[in-house]
Amino acid sequence: MRILITGAAGFLGSHLSDRFLADGHSVVGIDNFITGSPDNIAHLVGEPRFEFFRHDVSTFTYVAGPLDGILHFASPASPVDYLEHPIPTLKVGALGTHNALGMAKAKDARFLLASTSEVYGDPKVHPQPESYWGHVNPVGPRGVYDEAKRFAEAMTMAYHRYHGVDTRIVRIFNTYGPRMRQHDGRVVSNFIVQALKGEALTIFGDGSQTRSFCYVSDLVEGIYRTFMHGDSEPTNLGNPEEYTVRQLADLIIELTGAAIDVVHHPLPEDDPRVRQPDITKARRLLSWEPKMTVRDGLSRTIEYFRQVLAAERPSVAAGT
Ligand code: NAD
Ligand code: UDP
Repeated sequence: MRILITGAAGFLGSHLSDRFLADGHSVVGIDNFITGSPDNIAHLVGEPRFEFFRHDVSTFTYVAGPLDGILHFASPASPVDYLEHPIPTLKVGALGTHNALGMAKAKDARFLLASTSEVYGDPKVHPQPESYWGHVNPVGPRGVYDEAKRFAEAMTMAYHRYHGVDTRIVRIFNTYGPRMRQHDGRVVSNFIVQALKGEALTIFGDGSQTRSFCYVSDLVEGIYRTFMHGDSEPTNLGNPEEYTVRQLADLIIELTGAAIDVVHHPLPEDDPRVRQPDITKARRLLSWEPKMTVRDGLSRTIEYFRQVLAAERPSVAAGT
């Protein structure tokens, strides 16, 4: 198959590119590097089955030749990123999704949308099944991301129902692993980098809010299976193991062996209190569930960031 991945130079897009290439497919990547990095795809330079175009998918987008699938992953994803780029975030969720769906229709390609647990907002139902409609503040700071993704889901269903495009929607819950950016502001990367630098971990609020953390290889497997065997209704993908932010901080302190403390910062506006995926559907339809324990996944991610920091400052690698 020849697969187009938007956001291919991002954290998830680059791992997905690797996965499709490893299975013998060809990949066309598009990215404008607003939050991604050429470093994430540098290892693919010279790979004859990988093509790359630097382009903003919120503007008219055309790829020559046949396409069998389009995975639309372009969008700032970290709260820090989408608060810094609110309008590009709204545009890529709306205009970018429209462009990507238009191309899927024109090429008769299957389409998969990277949606998010944020469509559930600050949920009143816990854990969150796909049938839950969510509790989102449209005019709060996070609304730029949440509503863009909700619009993207509605647009995807419209192309499915009205134009007969073969579509998938994955609602991705917090995912972490190698190739996250050191300063992307997400809790896992923040805490690990702070611990490795010997700095206090910044807990927002009292740390009692919860998240469920999925390792990237598990998520990529779930996306791949959804693309191949899923249906057109949304599918939650994430790890149901739920931690408070305080528990995550303690685990990272333990795994890094860092002699550090925590500091408390104000809780950001509309920060969801709880989040845990109900993955009953993915288990049943895709025979999928995460394999990596949070402890093992964090250890691998710590090792990755150790190397990233060591490349910048040799003293960090030596633990001094
Ligand atoms: P990321 O920021 O690492 O990757 C996003 C990529 O999209 C970046 O490379 C960025 O440069 C690119 N991009 C953004 N706008 C673009 C545009 N207009 N044109 C072309 N490229 C553009 O983030 P990620 O964690 O890899 O997230 C990828 C997708 O998965 C996003 O759609 C995000 O909403 C979704 N998602 C991620 C998570 C997670 O935990 N990582 C959770 C839920 C949903
Ligand atoms: N968080 C924190 N310290 C940080 C970064 C984030 O306590 O340095 C909290 C944040 O307030 C949220 C949780 O960790 O409750 C997850 O934040 P993240 O930005 O990773 O993603 P979100 O799930 O909010 O989209």
